Amino acid sequence: MTFFSERVKQIPPSGIRVFFDLVMNSKDVISLGVGEPDFSTPWNIRDEAIYRIESGSTTYTSNRGLLALREAISQYLYHQFNIVYSSDELLITNGVSEGVDIVFRSVINPGDEILLPEPSYVCYRPLIELCGGKVVSIDTSKSDFIPLIADMKAALTPKTKAIVLSYPNNPTGQSIPQSTLEEIADFALDNNLLIITDEIYADLSFDPFFSIARIKKCRDNLIYLNGFSKAHSMTGWRIGYVAAPEYVIEMINKIHQYSALCAPTLSQFAAVEACKNSFDEVNAMKNSYMTRARYFTDHMNQMGLKTIMPAGGLYCFSSIQSMGMTSLSFAQKLLEAANVAVVPGSVFGDCGEGYIRSCIATDFDLLKTAVNNIRGFVSGHD
Ligand code: PLP
Repeated sequence: MTFFSERVKQIPPSGIRVFFDLVMNSKDVISLGVGEPDFSTPWNIRDEAIYRIESGSTTYTSNRGLLALREAISQYLYHQFNIVYSSDELLITNGVSEGVDIVFRSVINPGDEILLPEPSYVCYRPLIELCGGKVVSIDTSKSDFIPLIADMKAALTPKTKAIVLSYPNNPTGQSIPQSTLEEIADFALDNNLLIITDEIYADLSFDPFFSIARIKKCRDNLIYLNGFSKAHSMTGWRIGYVAAPEYVIEMINKIHQYSALCAPTLSQFAAVEACKNSFDEVNAMKNSYMTRARYFTDHMNQMGLKTIMPAGGLYCFSSIQSMGMTSLSFAQKLLEAANVAVVPGSVFGDCGEGYIRSCIATDFDLLKTAVNNIRGFVSGHD
């Protein structure tokens, strides 16, 4: 078939895919690859969905999402993060993924430049490029994965439209300190830039989390995204949300109403329950990730693979620069020799070269075996 658009043709195949084709073909692999919680969705959330199936709540909802859910999220954001958005300032989406896509499509004109601190989650770059936008990478690898305001200033041109933030970060695990967020907010306001912040790991922050959405003067220059996939172990439910002033939500909803109609109804009901009654479960899952992240970080550092303890989320990002090979080659050899799958850092941007990402949301015993196997592999290359 030859009907593809030029924009789709220009998107390179995902670097991660080539690698995971290899993983699929290997037996008994311990995968630290996929970024997914290893807990099932808490029972009270599942029960709510079962009840809704049984009572026949299977119709569409309004485009913006159930009012009960938007009200519950409004209270949740205030309670958890001191962030203020009313139910009219929320749009329920098919995961944060849909939210990111429709936000980019709502704001990016061809030629717009978007500042993207990298290494970063893999969807931003291709989705920006699909809109005809240009990604301007901010390399955070030289500053412990915290973007430097000086680098943002240096990257500014008359075409700069927005900054994309995603902290705690996938893949690096790091968060931006409040003082730097305040500088970024001032920089954005001084230059009339939009801030798009994807905070899907905020509930899994190991320390109290400060969101840039708390900085009130940014309100008209900020679009906030979050969802239930990670903190509530609800990846397959496809449920997330966008928060912004109502006139912004109205614009973004123009795309959502035609391309998605609404987020899955059962998942919306389940998410109401998630907002109201799963604080203890989320806390327990977070503590479990923190224990495993601490263990993994300590052991990787002991092996000489420098790893900064993550501030939250599901990942550890380790330097393999001492090994004298590329991150793809390290990951391939580790898979062949030690049966452990990790993600090459280069997948998350050019400046991720020299690192690997490991998802620590893996059974603790398996994680310990993986650590032993990595140690064996590393010491065999001394
Ligand atoms: N944003 C970030 C930073 C992620 O790491 C992921 C998934 O890995 C997503 C968004 C996708 O989230 P969702 O399942 O809500 O679409």
